[in-house]
Formats: sequence, C-alpha cells, structure tokens
Amino acid sequence: MMSYLFPTYARWDVTIKEAKGSWVTDVNDVKYLDFISGIAVCNLGHANEEVSDAVQEQLTKYWHMSNLFHQPIQEEVAKLLVEASDGDAVFFCNSGAEANEAAIKLARKHTGKHKIVTFLQSFHGRTFATMSATGQEKIQQGFGPLLETFQYLTFNNVEALDELGTDVAAIMLEVVQGEGGVVPADKEFIEKIAETCEKIGALLIIDEVQTGIGRTGKPFGYQHFGIKPDIITSAKGLGSGLPVGAMIGHKSLIETFQAGSHGSTFGGNPIAMAAAKVTLEKIFDEDFLNEVNKKSNYLLEKLEHIVGKHPLVNGVRGKGLLIGIECKEQVSPIIDQLREHNFLVLPAGPHVIRLLPPLTVSYEEMDIAVKTIAEVFSKVNDSVGAH
Ligand SMILES: *Cc1c(COP(=O)(O)O)cnc(C)c1O
Repeated sequence: MMSYLFPTYARWDVTIKEAKGSWVTDVNDVKYLDFISGIAVCNLGHANEEVSDAVQEQLTKYWHMSNLFHQPIQEEVAKLLVEASDGDAVFFCNSGAEANEAAIKLARKHTGKHKIVTFLQSFHGRTFATMSATGQEKIQQGFGPLLETFQYLTFNNVEALDELGTDVAAIMLEVVQGEGGVVPADKEFIEKIAETCEKIGALLIIDEVQTGIGRTGKPFGYQHFGIKPDIITSAKGLGSGLPVGAMIGHKSLIETFQAGSHGSTFGGNPIAMAAAKVTLEKIFDEDFLNEVNKKSNYLLEKLEHIVGKHPLVNGVRGKGLLIGIECKEQVSPIIDQLREHNFLVLPAGPHVIRLLPPLTVSYEEMDIAVKTIAEVFSKVNDSVGAH
C-alpha cells in the first residue's frame, strides 16, 4: 500500500475505527478484545468517560499557554504523583524517552559524574541518550557512535554490582523489564542495587514508564520492593492516551534544576494534565488497586492452569496486569493466530507473549481471553504434533 509515512512500524493489517473499554472495532466491523491497551497506555480502558469529560472541559477553557505562566493544573497532577510516590517534585514532558532524558540530565548535573549503569535487555526509549541507555543492540544498530557514558550489566545478576566504583552517577532500571521480555527483578537484586547506590554515591533511577500508574497493582512498581529511588520516570498510562511524561525527583535534587536547566514547550500541557489528573485520581485509589491485584491473581492462576504445562510454554510470569507467557518457539505466529481469534496481544522479545489488559478489565473478559489462549494453544499443539 502507498504510504506517506516513514515505515518505522511493522504494522498489522488492521485498522481500528472505534474503541471503548476493553474492546476495539475495526473498519470491517470485526470486534477484538484488546489486551494491548495502546501498549500499557489506556489503563482505564479506551475512551474512559470521566477522562473524556475532563479533557473536553479543559478544551473550552484554553489549550496551551506555555510554561511562562503558572498553571495550577500542573501543581494538582504533580501533587498526586508526589503523594503516591517517594518523590517531592515533578518535571513534566511528553513521553517516556523525554522523562528518561530529564532523569539522565538531572543525575549528571547533580552528581557532577557522567557514567550511568543500565542493564542488558532493558528499554528506555529511542532518543540519543535513552537509546544509548537501552541495553539492546537491535535498537542501537546503525546509529553509532552512541553516548559512551553508559555501562550495561546483566539483569538480576547480584555479583556484577560489586564491581561498580564511585565514578557512577546513577543506576537506572525497570523493576519489570517490559519490552525485554516481561522479566521481573528479584527482590535481592533490587535491594543490592539500592545498597550499592548508597555505597558508591550514585542516584537510583527507576524507569516506571511501563510499570507505573497501577500496572503492577501499586501506583509504581518499585513499591513492591521496599526501596526509595531518587528519581522515578513515568509516561505511557499517565494520560490515558494523551501524550504526557513526568520525572519525579527527591527533594535533595530540586535545587539542581533551576530556571533554564531544562524545559519543554509542550511539557505540562493543560489538555494532557486534565487527562492525567482524572487518571491518577481513579487509579491511585486503594480500592481500585486492590481490585487490580485480585484480577492479577485470577488471571495468573487461570493462565498457569491452562497453558503453564503446555509443551511449548516455559512459564507464566508477571506483576499485576503486566503478564508474560514465555514460549519455547517464536511467538509471532501465535500472536497472529490469537488476533485471528479476535484477541489482541503483544510480543515482548521473540519468545514472550505479553498481556496488558486495561486495569478495568472484567472477570468475564479475562475468561474470554483465557479461553481464546487455550483454543489457540491447543491448535499450536496439534500442528507441532503433526510435524
Ligand atoms: C515505552 C517505554 C519507554 C519509551 O517511552 P516513549 O513514550 O515511547 O518514549 C521508556 N521506558 C520504558 C520502560 C518503556 O516501556
């Protein structure tokens, strides 16, 4: 098909015309159950009405004013982020990569050091610094020389941390590697990282772009581990589908970012803030998060029961409603099959099927998902048996 776009995305042959809750409808009126949620973005389901109302109300007031002016709605969203985390001040931007850029700049300026330690199979974004931070060669190919100041260690390898010295500005990681295969960090590993940061005078940056905003059953994923990061980055689910990112920092860092240190024309845009405010009020509610955890247990148990013992499956794992099914073969044909059965899921690396249902998913919808997975896997079994 003729296109006026750069072919930067391998697109499926599906065009969606409408989306509501956990369901999307394509231009041929085929309805799909959506366990992608715009890649962990539409955590309240598609087209949430309260978010929509707040955005429409802001549209009638003003759309953009620039950060030359005080914008109370930025303060309101920042307060919600600070109260739900261990941070004290927020910088708003427009994406996950930008939030991580801000974190890298802040860590370097604050510590006066430049080495940032990240992990193999991580994903932190596609700008120059965040691509350099990302421990995956396939993301970096063709763009060299990269920023030299990143060092990559093996995720969940506790011993490797012993080699780090006092020249490290920050250690940056996801507590569940999302794009890299839905790999949760071990508690021992995270604790050792926090301890190492303390010991060598490095800042701890947690990339919560995918794991934040209730996705793992807590406001932020790091809260499962009892650590206190210096910097937390957020985006994806923060605006329920409007583009917004945030960097949340500890109070000891506030003085480092002065007027002129960093900035963004659109950062903290009031339309995005209106969406973020309602999103956080709803998701950071204790009852809402309890329900996410109940759904997570339900879905993980059912998946374990249905496919956990399948000859093609290595294991089912995850935190909250960020769930991976690791297979012994390439998953892309299975994902195509699931889509042909009107069920949308993503890969995370070549061998993992990633499930990211909206946090508002119903038990009935989870049952449909599990039934569809069982059906497709039983066929995969047959075709494997036939070889
Ligand atoms: C998606 C993602 C990013 C990049 O976010 P963009 O908004 O695409 O720039 C960074 N870190 C993690 C963990 C992500 O999942």
